[in-house]
Amino acid sequence: MVQGFLLKYAEIGVKGKNRYKFEIALCEQIKIKLAKIDGDWDFDVTREQGRIYIEASGEFDSDEVIEALQRVPGISAISPVEVIEDMSWKNLERATGDFIERQYEEKNFSFKVKAKRSDKHYQSTSPEICRKIGAYLLERFDGLKVDVHNPDVYIWVEIRGRAYVYSKVYKGIGGMPLGTAGKAMLLLSGGIDSPVAGYMISKRGVVIDAVYFHAPPYTSERAKEKVLSLARQMSRYTGKIHLHIINFTDIQMYIYEKCPHEELTIIMRRYMMRIAEEIAVNNGCIGLVTGESIGQVASQTMQSLMVTNEVCSLPVYRPLIAFDKQDIVNIAEKIGTFEISIQPYEDCCTIFVAKHPVTKPVAEVIRNSEKKIGEKIDDMVKTALETAEIVEIDE
Ligand code: ATP
Ligand code: MG
Repeated sequence: MVQGFLLKYAEIGVKGKNRYKFEIALCEQIKIKLAKIDGDWDFDVTREQGRIYIEASGEFDSDEVIEALQRVPGISAISPVEVIEDMSWKNLERATGDFIERQYEEKNFSFKVKAKRSDKHYQSTSPEICRKIGAYLLERFDGLKVDVHNPDVYIWVEIRGRAYVYSKVYKGIGGMPLGTAGKAMLLLSGGIDSPVAGYMISKRGVVIDAVYFHAPPYTSERAKEKVLSLARQMSRYTGKIHLHIINFTDIQMYIYEKCPHEELTIIMRRYMMRIAEEIAVNNGCIGLVTGESIGQVASQTMQSLMVTNEVCSLPVYRPLIAFDKQDIVNIAEKIGTFEISIQPYEDCCTIFVAKHPVTKPVAEVIRNSEKKIGEKIDDMVKTALETAEIVEIDE
C-alpha cells in the first residue's frame, strides 16, 4: 500500500511555458511546510502531469498534514490518495476497496465511481473502469449503493502510468506559490485589517516583511506583544517574516506639538509611509502593503489616501481597498487573527487622534505644515531607522 496526497493547483495551470517554475516553487513551499509536521515520517514531493503528489510513509497524523497544506498559497485542493502500481484488475479493485475501508469508518453511503484515463494504452476505457470497480465495491461493502445523479461520495480512479484512487477533497487557499511574485513591506498594526492584507498579498505569491510603529509609553509593551502574535499567526500562511519595530514616539510627539491637530493623523501617516519605504528599499522590497479600505476612517477617504500616497515612490498595494468591514472580519476569523486583533491594547494612532480630523486634506496645506517641522524631524526619522528592532518570526 502506498499512501499519499494528491494536490491540485489552480492558476499555475495557465502559465504555459513557465509552468514548471511555478510548480517547482510550490514544491519548495510544500517541503518547508511539511518539515514542520510532527512524527517520524518520510514525505516525497514530486510533480506529476499537472498535479503535485506527496508520497508519504512512516508515522504522521494525516489531518495535521492536510491542515498544514491548507495554508500553503498555490494549492487549490488536497486529497488523500492511494497509489497503485500494479494495475491488474484484481489488484486495482482490491486496492480501491482497501482505500474505502481506511477512509470511511461508516460504510453506508451512496457513491459514484469516476474514472479518468490519461494513459490511453491502458487496457480498459473509463466507463469500463467505473462499471467494474463499482460492481466490486457493491459486492464487498453491504452498506454501499450506487447513485449516479447525486451520490454522497465520488470515488475517483485516475490512470496515469500508475493508478491514483481518491475521494475526499479538501479545499486549499488557492493563489500563487510564495516567492513567485517579489517581496513587499507590510505596514502591520494591531488592528483587524493589516494582517488580513498581509495574508491576501502573500496568497498572490508575494513574500512579505513587516514594519510596526510602536510609541512607548503611549502604547504598552502588551500592544507590541499583540503585534508579535499577530505576525506569528499570519506567518502560518505567509511564511517567515522579519518584523521591523520602529520607535515612533518622538516623531509622533513632535508632530503633535508643531502641527494643527486635525492634520495630525495624516501627517503621521505620511511619516509612517516614508519610513516604511526606506526600510522596504533597504530590504529588497518592491512595494508597500497596507490594510486600508476606502471610507473606513477619516484617514482612508480617497482624498486622504491620495495625500498619503504622494510621499511614496514605491507602489502601495491595498488588497482590502474595496472590502466591507464584515468581509475583512470573516477572513480574519478564518486565518485566526481576529481573536488576537480584538484584544484591547491601544495602537499608536488611537491615542493621538484629533476629535475632528480632516477628511479631505489638501496636499499643498499638508506640505506647508510639514515644512515647519522639516529638518528636525528628518533627524528623528534617521534615529528611528537606526534604532529599529528586527524580530524574525516563523510559525
Ligand atoms: P488596521 O485594522 O490594520 O489597524 P485600521 O482600520 O485601524 O487598520 P488605520 O489605523 O487608519 O486603520 O491604519 C491604516 C493602515 O495603516 C493599517 O491597515 C496598517 O497597514 C497601517 N498602520 C496603522 N497603524 C500602524 C502601526 N502602528 N504600525 C504599522 N502600520 C500601521
Ligand atoms: Mg489600526
